[in-house]
Amino acid sequence: MEFSSGRARQKHSRLGGDRRELYPHSLQFYLEPPTENVPLVEFESFAIDRLKLLKVVENLGVSYVRSSESYRTKLESELRKLKFPYRALAEDDYEARRKDHISHFILRLAYCQSEDLRRWFLQQEMDLLRYRFNELTDSLRQKFLEHVNLSFEAISEDLKNELVNELYTSTPGLTMTKLKEQMFYKVGLADAVDLFRARRVFIKDGFAFVPLKDIDAIVLNNYRTKLSKALALTARSLPSIQSDERLQPLLSHLSHSYVGPDYSVQKNTGKISLEQIDALSVKSFPLCMRQLHKALRDNHHLRHGGRMQYGLFLKGIGLTLEQALEFWKKEFIRGKVDADKIGNNYTVLCYQSIVKIRCPFRHSDPELLKQKLQSYKIPPSGITQILELVKGMHYQLACQKYFELTHDVDDVGFSLNHPNQYFAESQRQLGGGRELKKELSNSGNSQQKSNSQESMNSNSTPTSSNTTADAELEGLEAYFTED
Ligand code: SF4
Repeated sequence: MEFSSGRARQKHSRLGGDRRELYPHSLQFYLEPPTENVPLVEFESFAIDRLKLLKVVENLGVSYVRSSESYRTKLESELRKLKFPYRALAEDDYEARRKDHISHFILRLAYCQSEDLRRWFLQQEMDLLRYRFNELTDSLRQKFLEHVNLSFEAISEDLKNELVNELYTSTPGLTMTKLKEQMFYKVGLADAVDLFRARRVFIKDGFAFVPLKDIDAIVLNNYRTKLSKALALTARSLPSIQSDERLQPLLSHLSHSYVGPDYSVQKNTGKISLEQIDALSVKSFPLCMRQLHKALRDNHHLRHGGRMQYGLFLKGIGLTLEQALEFWKKEFIRGKVDADKIGNNYTVLCYQSIVKIRCPFRHSDPELLKQKLQSYKIPPSGITQILELVKGMHYQLACQKYFELTHDVDDVGFSLNHPNQYFAESQRQLGGGRELKKELSNSGNSQQKSNSQESMNSNSTPTSSNTTADAELEGLEAYFTED
């Protein structure tokens, strides 16, 4: 795969008609990397779309039974929305197939970098393939098997009738009628290890007799082996990829990636007052920010990372610069910090700081997490569900569950990616805008007023006010960079 400017894409489009044969099936094992030039803009957008897709696959896999109608409908709609092949039957979906192919290989590069990333990627790709394979018609399934060299021999009707009793007793989940309708395949034992181990298949003369309905297990097993090997190989070639200065930032961004809106762009500036923060931290902050807020209130101090993360979060929920100055100043004066050192590099943090956040679901000892949740009055059944999700390493889903329990909703209806997203959704759920406005007009109005007055320089000595603000900003920077 080469990377290029937009011109190469035009050339590629002209050749598109000739290259349809590159993707004879909407489904693939991604055995060969793309050989065409990929414009950098496309490179990034393809990768982000696939990441979105895999995150949806992860969420659905935890929230729904994989074979259920809801799972399939939701996944199909996501594939359709992101313009990946969503119906194996669609004939003319060359662009979608190409996007599928290229984006898989880009994420392979980004997600081969550590054991955790590899495991996550493998799991989501397997689930995606399982869904797509099961959506194929019988004849397309057969074609695909041949295409990936898994062309197992179907046994004859005569042989099936001869073995009917053995097949019936050794193949769970099939009534006699269904068994008679199913095609059975002779599969080498090495390809049917999982079915064999689970005692779900009839074995004779070194072959497993696998019904069509279980062929997906074989296909997935085969795919898993191939993809794990490929990821290990890609990881070995990382040093050369990492030396590409155009590629490396993109790849590392993707593997930490967060794919929602940019919350560093303030939309709600000035809509909340400092007096509201304590109440909001209980109602609308995700657990990570609730803890930081509490630690700050209790100790009047946060360590460097915490200050950065919490500062950025507060900015994202709409604190103005003046409010931020006042907020941190009050806390640190209480904490006997030299007032000159009150600082804030409020405008320069990037969201990457926040994705490296210490997530309490991920980093807390389960027993401590349990106690914390109990102290927040989360019901025992909810705590059990959260701890189960944590055990399965589904930290964001644990956070979503926490949201459901604290907002009394059955389904959050969004896929969580960012602490500020949590806040925004919470406010929406609680009728946020309205509620905030009401609170503002009652109690916090004075705060709001003073902020807008400040920003309009109603201070009697505007010049000295500016100078003070400048000095404070300089000091803030120092504060935020010390530990
Ligand atoms: Fe915070 Fe994200 Fe963890 Fe939720 S999942 S507690 S928002 S870091």
